[in-house]
Amino acid sequence: MRRPFVAGNWKMNLTLAQGKALAAAIAADCPAGDSVDVALCPASPYLLPVKDAIAGSGVQLGAQNAYFAAPGAFTGEIALDMLLDVGCQWVILGHSERRQFFGDTDALINKKLIAARQKGLGVIFCVGELLAERQENRTEAVLETQMAGGLADVDAAMFEGVVIAYEPVWAIGTGVTASPEQAEAAHLYLRNWVRSHYNNAAADQLRIQYGGSVKPDNAAELLSQPNVDGALVGGASLKPEQFLPIIQAARGIVK
Ligand code: PEP
Repeated sequence: MRRPFVAGNWKMNLTLAQGKALAAAIAADCPAGDSVDVALCPASPYLLPVKDAIAGSGVQLGAQNAYFAAPGAFTGEIALDMLLDVGCQWVILGHSERRQFFGDTDALINKKLIAARQKGLGVIFCVGELLAERQENRTEAVLETQMAGGLADVDAAMFEGVVIAYEPVWAIGTGVTASPEQAEAAHLYLRNWVRSHYNNAAADQLRIQYGGSVKPDNAAELLSQPNVDGALVGGASLKPEQFLPIIQAARGIVK
């Protein structure tokens, strides 16, 4: 059984006041014991205030990145211990914006992922192809490379705390969404990848989020696909009137 999981990636957006108000609005509608897992991933300066705003609700806290090393001389970086210290349950790793703009390679993502799992932090591991790669029919090859690289030396026990987010880069922040069929095909490929590299239980339990211009009007159809277990939401997670209907669309879906 896979509980749906909807996460909001706020990226480098919002003021402190806006973040607190948004988190409170989401928390008010997501009680503890809800049928859907919900996480908010604010920018690091807002982790603590958001933690306070969601206290007592069913909403979980996530970060957008972390460094793999132990605390020390790494100016500008954030240690996994620090994320745990402020109450994070999740960290997003391998987001395409990290890959594109900040040099996060598969090897670096792999180090971060292993370190996060060793600390017991849940990982939302993002994979996805560029538009040119899809047009050249290389989607599966790209996913294979990203999965093999990001999950190198990750054994089945460590993999248990990993959620995969399939995020076609051409759909992120563009308003262009993968069709339900395109999303389902990629998710099925990813689940089968896990089946062949780990085992049936790991594949059957794995939650795979879709990310890329998820909105209230396309969420239900995407989430109804057999292998779509949730959503990683960017732009639409910044407004309660858009994010709450997406969460609502995920409620009650158990696969
Ligand atoms: C994302 O950045 O993870 C994302 C899916 O963004 P958007 O929903 O804005 O496309």
